[in-house]
Amino acid sequence: MIEMNVHYAELKESYLFAGIAKKTEAYLERHPGSRLLRLGIGDVSLPLAPAVIEALHEAVDDQSRKESFQGYLPECGAPFLREAIARHYAESGVEVAPKEVFISSGASDELGDILDLFSPRSAALVVEPAYPAYVDANVMAGRRVERLEAGKDDGFAPWPDPEAKADLIYLCSPSNPTGSVYSRKKLQAWVDYANERGAVILFDAAYEAFIEDPGTPHSIFEIDGARTCAIEICSLSKTAGFTGTRLGYTIIPKELRREGLSLDGMWTRNRTTKTNGVSYIIQKGAAAVFTPEGRRQIEGNIKVYKGNARVITGALSELGIWYCGGENAPYVWMECPNGMLSWEFFDYLLEEIQVVGTPGEGFGVCGEGFFRLSSFGDPDDTIEAMERLKGLLRGACA
Ligand code: PLP
Repeated sequence: MIEMNVHYAELKESYLFAGIAKKTEAYLERHPGSRLLRLGIGDVSLPLAPAVIEALHEAVDDQSRKESFQGYLPECGAPFLREAIARHYAESGVEVAPKEVFISSGASDELGDILDLFSPRSAALVVEPAYPAYVDANVMAGRRVERLEAGKDDGFAPWPDPEAKADLIYLCSPSNPTGSVYSRKKLQAWVDYANERGAVILFDAAYEAFIEDPGTPHSIFEIDGARTCAIEICSLSKTAGFTGTRLGYTIIPKELRREGLSLDGMWTRNRTTKTNGVSYIIQKGAAAVFTPEGRRQIEGNIKVYKGNARVITGALSELGIWYCGGENAPYVWMECPNGMLSWEFFDYLLEEIQVVGTPGEGFGVCGEGFFRLSSFGDPDDTIEAMERLKGLLRGACA
């Protein structure tokens, strides 16, 4: 009889988004035709930039002609895209060689696949509240997961915990779900901590394009010593609306070595075995994101989401509700008013004002009592949702 990976049985049911969908469907059944305003989504709502669409069309045409047709590309990514991304890093003063850039189908794929490099006996440290895939991917691999609970005191971006037994450290900045960012000083502390212990940081920079504050690092490689302890995982999903188009990239520096092994070399070996790379057409579309025109256009889209975030934070400030995020991130993380629990607040907003958000408890136990609002929705819906929220809570917050 085949022996199964029994660790799957240890996974907690993924109830967060399923639970939201179930409750909203039930509400709509009871109140047909009511207009729900959805601020729970982590998906983008604006289409791809015109420069990307043009590049995608051109790439399709390339595939129709013998002289420009592309078959298999290098598994780790097309040189034109690896070079474009390396140049993009160089523009902000971060030296990355094109060969250190690995093109992927997205950050989720990569966050799971990269675990192949580490022994299941190593321990993962996840700063919670966290993107749920960090914990689940490690549980599937049979790895021990330690949690470091962030909170209001540290602005949901904690310092390293000297007591933690961590080999593989997940840091997400700007964070999903809290919208918090790590300062240069905090990231330096994490990098020093990882280098001292021989640990490896997996730095999830999926939301780096939303950083406004000029002092906040976009990349872990802005920090001294990061090249010997960090891997950066990035995505065009939120930066450029690629959630359905799919493209990400991972940076593994040559200097990153553990137990005599080069992680960059291991990952090259892994990719050349387990994938034949990302489609030529999509890589061409992605390269357009890094042209001056593409950059300008995607910044225009990000501005729309930022406008939504300002509407949300403005309403919460007016109501005197504690929140973080929104300034350097598309998410606003608010405290539920009057001591309500996350799901209790979810039900209250759904029933009273037909606004849908995401209960913080779904991102880890320490997210209880908090709630995530997303700025990826439609601007008019966001304004209306916040008017409804103000109408509901004005004068009602303790
Ligand atoms: N990392 C974080 C923190 C995310 O929030 C998401 C998606 O919501 C991802 C990674 C996944 O991104 P991708 O669409 O590239 O798989």
